[in-house]
Amino acid sequence: MIDTHCHLCDKRFDKDREQVLDRAFEAGVTHLIEIAYSPAIVPRAHALASRHPNLFLCLGVHPSEAAKVPDDYLATLRDHAGHARVVAIGETGLDFYRDHAPRPDQERWFRAQLGLADAMGLPVVIHQRSALEETLAILEELRPAAGGVLHCFDDGPEAVARARGIGFKLGLGGCLTYGHAALDQAVREAPGDMLVLETDSPYLEPEPRSLRRNEPALLGRVVARLCELKGWTKAEADRVTTANARELFRLPIGQGSLPASGNA
Ligand SMILES: [Zn+2]
Repeated sequence: MIDTHCHLCDKRFDKDREQVLDRAFEAGVTHLIEIAYSPAIVPRAHALASRHPNLFLCLGVHPSEAAKVPDDYLATLRDHAGHARVVAIGETGLDFYRDHAPRPDQERWFRAQLGLADAMGLPVVIHQRSALEETLAILEELRPAAGGVLHCFDDGPEAVARARGIGFKLGLGGCLTYGHAALDQAVREAPGDMLVLETDSPYLEPEPRSLRRNEPALLGRVVARLCELKGWTKAEADRVTTANARELFRLPIGQGSLPASGNA
């Protein structure tokens, strides 16, 4: 399994980050993508990646950070994006639920990062909350060339069709276990080649939500629900979602690679 979206640099992992990674590898997570969504996280994410060869990076400016990050950070981001371990730009998008940044700032950073992703030939990781229509409209206008993923996908079949229209995939995580009827229907009907796995650790622990912190080792809970919805075996779910993640992020990893020793 590949966890395509986690935040292991979060302070909630400061006490046991290496054990969290060990547990992930033991649970069958072979590779992870760390999302460094603000400038302060980037050096820590690079350091983590340098210790773990199966951890890749996605760098960007989260919509909630859009008012805090100066515009000239885009040039820094471009420099970082050339690093071999960086596989995507994001998470970027629009968050009208929290509204931590004025909407024009969010949109400016969103469009700038879509431009950067195209310039670098990288896919984009999209965060949206209470802004699905506005987010899809911008993506349909700019049509990122290397595609991307609607992270934390929690919408219905119509959104799947629009994502498909722009060559995007759906990031499935804890939300899939929360019993959302429209999402269940969307995933039942969605083409298998659109589905990738994610945890968004430390957020969005999958049911039964007993630990108050999510971690990549819990990805199996998402896979179990995906198997129920698609009628897949666990092996099929692993194979399909791993292939999709490898293709989207162009991960330089071997076919059928076994869990690498995480502490190399
Ligand atoms: Zn995230």
